[in-house]
Amino acid sequence: MTEASTRPRIGVLAIQGDYAAHAEALAAHGAEPVEVRKPEELAGLDGLILPGGESTTMLKFLAKHHFFEALKEYCNHHPVFGTCAGAILLAREVRNPAQLSLGVLDAVVERNAYGRQIDSAILTAPTELAGGPLEMVFIRAPRIVEVGAEVRVLAQRDGFPVLVRQGNVMAATFHPELSADRRVHRLFVELVTAAASKPHLEH
Ligand code: GLN
Repeated sequence: MTEASTRPRIGVLAIQGDYAAHAEALAAHGAEPVEVRKPEELAGLDGLILPGGESTTMLKFLAKHHFFEALKEYCNHHPVFGTCAGAILLAREVRNPAQLSLGVLDAVVERNAYGRQIDSAILTAPTELAGGPLEMVFIRAPRIVEVGAEVRVLAQRDGFPVLVRQGNVMAATFHPELSADRRVHRLFVELVTAAASKPHLEH
């Protein structure tokens, strides 16, 4: 954040998926959303959202545009929030099948873990967030099958974490941008705002 502005600038990786809905949710909480398609567009951002989509397609795009390493470097030093395919990209290990990931979230993630028949679902369930049960939209969702000791589980589905936070890294296996309830984005904007006021962030 610059001194002149108290609005955090939060990037949304705009390769595919519903990045426009993420941008809207960020703007609703006073952040300035910025679409990111190239490594140089990460400069000056206070945080970044990695939206859902197909993680394999996103990986291909990142490789083709020499963007993977720059993204990894960014994610290691700034607040980041991955939803669905974005959560897959952030994980330490990906299964079903194994694939490359950024490794900034101490979690093992299994892709397409709910099977073909029940791959999409909308659940409303209690979470650690204040304000009552949260609507969660799952679309060909991954499952977080293991988390490290530093990872806080904020919501679960069938006993598996679906919303987690590890310091300045957040991940959701559902799509908070598709619900009218903006509490998850609000939490990320708060986290980015707090981190931006501390000059030398490491996580
Ligand atoms: N099934 C997708 C993947 O494995 C994730 C789905 C999503 O982001 N909605 O990458």
